[in-house]
Amino acid sequence: MSKIIAIANQKGGVGKTTTSVNLGAGLATIGKKVLLIDIDPQGNTTSGVGINKADVENCIYDVLINEVNPKDAISPTEIEGLDIIPATIQLAGAEIELVSTVSREVRLKKSLEQVKRFYDYILIDCPPSLGILTLNSLTAADSVLIPIQCEYYALEGLSQLLNTVRLVQKHLNTSLQIEGVLLTMFDARTNLGIQVIEEVKKYFQQKVYKTVIPRNVRLSEAPSHGQSIITYDPRSKGAEVYLELAKEVVSNE
Ligand code: ADP
Ligand code: MG
Repeated sequence: MSKIIAIANQKGGVGKTTTSVNLGAGLATIGKKVLLIDIDPQGNTTSGVGINKADVENCIYDVLINEVNPKDAISPTEIEGLDIIPATIQLAGAEIELVSTVSREVRLKKSLEQVKRFYDYILIDCPPSLGILTLNSLTAADSVLIPIQCEYYALEGLSQLLNTVRLVQKHLNTSLQIEGVLLTMFDARTNLGIQVIEEVKKYFQQKVYKTVIPRNVRLSEAPSHGQSIITYDPRSKGAEVYLELAKEVVSNE
């Protein structure tokens, strides 16, 4: 079985990239074949797994716009079982360039059909917007994983995201599911975090992962070393929880 999960929330800084890299690394560590797709022009997932953007020959832009075979855009990472299709700043132009192309929302879906069978999981790190790159991701995906930061206004903007999911379900991808809602950057020292968890659980009920990602400084350090938390500091709390999340994602199948 092979599953494509879009990691999406149009808010920036909620943990999409951290979750893409570390859930991907966690799934690979427990023996799954994983492909990361970086579809955010900032390319943080790309550098987060140690890829130097200057060395990238084909990126997701070439797959979407120049119809390069996705197989020719895949790079391995330091973690066995974890591959990536990187993003470079070139992708910043794609939103505008795609506007005038035929079947612009299904381009990623069509491309991924060529590589899906080689992987157990394909994780797509979405940009912080509900533009055409996120639409491509939701159209290509079997499900969407929504990270929510345990902060004030945690639920703000979510109705917009859920509306977009419904529109995609209606017009572009009738089988799109909600994979799960992930609470991130939880701080056990504040009441606020606990309140947010309760609020999110009331709203999403059993869709909320049991695994909650705490604030962990090692998680924020790892990207500048071009490493996932599992290679950067395997004994950290961050590594422990992302491995736990990987197991939870697998056990939900
Ligand atoms: P997004 O991709 O949604 O914009 P990121 O994953 O890039 O969000 O996270 C935003 C910032 O917060 C980054 O600097 C990241 O290193 C940091 N961060 C994310 N999750 C955690 C965490 N659990 N603990 C500490 N820092 C985190
Ligand atoms: Mg990001």
